[in-house]
Amino acid sequence: MADRNRLAGKIAIISGAARGMGVSHARAMVEEGARVVSFDINDGEGSDLTRELGASSFAFLQADVTSAADWDRVVAHCRNQFGTPNVLVNNAGISPLHSLADVTEDEYQRVIDINQVGTFLGMRAVVPSLREHGGSIVNIASTAAYVGFEDLFPYIASKWAVRGMTRAAALELAADNIRVNTVCPGDTDTPMIRAFADTPTGALPPAEELPMKRWARPEEISAAVVFLASDESSYMSGTDIVVDGGFTAQ
Ligand code: NAD
Repeated sequence: MADRNRLAGKIAIISGAARGMGVSHARAMVEEGARVVSFDINDGEGSDLTRELGASSFAFLQADVTSAADWDRVVAHCRNQFGTPNVLVNNAGISPLHSLADVTEDEYQRVIDINQVGTFLGMRAVVPSLREHGGSIVNIASTAAYVGFEDLFPYIASKWAVRGMTRAAALELAADNIRVNTVCPGDTDTPMIRAFADTPTGALPPAEELPMKRWARPEEISAAVVFLASDESSYMSGTDIVVDGGFTAQ
């Protein structure tokens, strides 16, 4: 992506940036002039990314989206290192394969805690900062927030909830000049999807059966995230950008 400084002056927090799309979002946002604090429960590519992007624009922490105390620590770190955050990308997520009939309550709750409660805690943690100068929240949902898939029961419950929370938050925060939207990726080439690509299940159709006959590249999802974080989307709130190569049009 060309460096056009579309995010100059933006100070962003991104969850789940040790691998996959979180890494791509961090890279794209720094390339566009943002300063980014990212975090993940794992170390993963965090140290490499800090070396690549440089400490003047990027910081990586270890933290858990299900912990309100961790969110407060991340926001405090951002305020100290770069200033008041004005963008949040709620990206961390898990997608274990569980069917309605077989999922245990603990397994169900774990997905809800990370994908749904984590998104809520992130939004609540940044609202006081975003109220200072306005801002943009980008919640990562999924095509699994538009349709059903077999064997992803808790994941689908959590991602439909993310779309609902996005609309509720957008209405509550509009008067504070805080926009809240989702990006809904289709199948995207990350460790998450590779982990179950070989699993015998109905959840993942082969890439050749998709309208564009391939998965998305992470950068193709990051382009929508950058747009929603930028002032180019200044009148967009409470809605979704679906980046799925036509999957939900079928
Ligand atoms: P990924 O598994 O490659 O990366 C997800 C990251 O989230 C990991 O680094 C993981 O350690 C982190 N994470 C998990 N639990 C965490 C926690 N409690 N606290 C902090 N970090 C935590 O997945 P990805 O494909 O990059 O997915 C990113 C987002 O996009 C997720 O919300 C996912 O549901 C969504 N999504 C992915 C696809 C796809 O096809 N890959 C499609 C639609 C939506």
